[in-house]
Amino acid sequence: MSDNVRNVIVIGGGPSGYTSGIYSARAELKPLVLAGYQAGGQLMLTTDIENFPGFKDGIGGEALMNEMRDQAERFGAEIINEDVTEVDFSSRPFTIKTYSNEYKTHSVIIATGASARWMGLESEKRLTGSGVSSCATCDGAFYKDKVVCVVGGGDSAMEEAGFLTRYAKKVYLIHRREGFRASKIMLERARNNPKIEFKINAVIDDIYSKKEGFLEAVTGIKLRNTVTGEFEDIELDGVFVAIGHIPNTAIFKDQLNLDEKGYVLTTMNTRTNIEGVYAAGDVVDSRYRQAITAAGMGCQAAIDVTRWLEEQGLD
Ligand code: NAP
Repeated sequence: MSDNVRNVIVIGGGPSGYTSGIYSARAELKPLVLAGYQAGGQLMLTTDIENFPGFKDGIGGEALMNEMRDQAERFGAEIINEDVTEVDFSSRPFTIKTYSNEYKTHSVIIATGASARWMGLESEKRLTGSGVSSCATCDGAFYKDKVVCVVGGGDSAMEEAGFLTRYAKKVYLIHRREGFRASKIMLERARNNPKIEFKINAVIDDIYSKKEGFLEAVTGIKLRNTVTGEFEDIELDGVFVAIGHIPNTAIFKDQLNLDEKGYVLTTMNTRTNIEGVYAAGDVVDSRYRQAITAAGMGCQAAIDVTRWLEEQGLD
């Protein structure tokens, strides 16, 4: 264990964590960013990002994250790809443990993000990024005049299905039961959209694909009716999974106030219920979930931490 007490440790290596790193490094706080073994966050799963301001021709998800990481390092952020296994926020300085290290810090920014919930099929995993996506906003434009499906019965599924009809010629909305979690207005809007066809009491049993050059590409799905047990094959080009997200908060659950879905509750901007612990990005936000909004919150958290450390006379 190092005796050295850090000013701030950022937990998470997505847009929010790296932006916190950039801002806190520029404030000369010498932040340590624990980016995790799978540094880069959800954007590492997407191909081209076309809606991040500043890149008019789009940028690859991985390339964008590498740029952010390099930018944070350029200003003196120390970034280590370690997963945090345990935190102790009961007294200051706080303790953060990884598999191989233990750190002490005056303040923490939690930017651990959220992970898309997946159906759990082998074919879904294999084809993620090759026709299977969890983000219509990110990938919808690749499906101009194609046929796609959206899985889910909540507001996200309705919203994604509607959004995809801007590009796709047909969108199947696949939901596992008759009742919907989606709000009435969103459900009606989807029902009234002539490009959307509902398949209810239906689950995907398999996703078909073919090789296209080096890559596999989705060609169809096998649907199973949960009431009759009958199977149906549908030809399509893309599968959008919108069955919710899971915030990455398991290690904080006994110490931080979380909402009923596990998202970190913040009060006073990015501050959590524990003084000195801040949170930003998708771990807080189940509504917008965009790279740009996560980055924006990462900036806010770094500014909040900088001011708090100044007030404490700790910077
Ligand atoms: P959600 O409301 O939790 O809905 C998830 C849906 O996925 C449910 O219909 C659920 O089915 C289904 N599902 C879960 N696991 C599944 C599985 N393994 N296989 C097949 N289906 C599965 O999540 P969400 O739609 O992402 O919405 C999250 C929150 O954000 C909500 O509060 C929502 O209102 C909000 N939101 C708001 C807007 C908006 O206002 N514009 C847009 C998007 C999201 P069951 O119903 O059978 O459990």
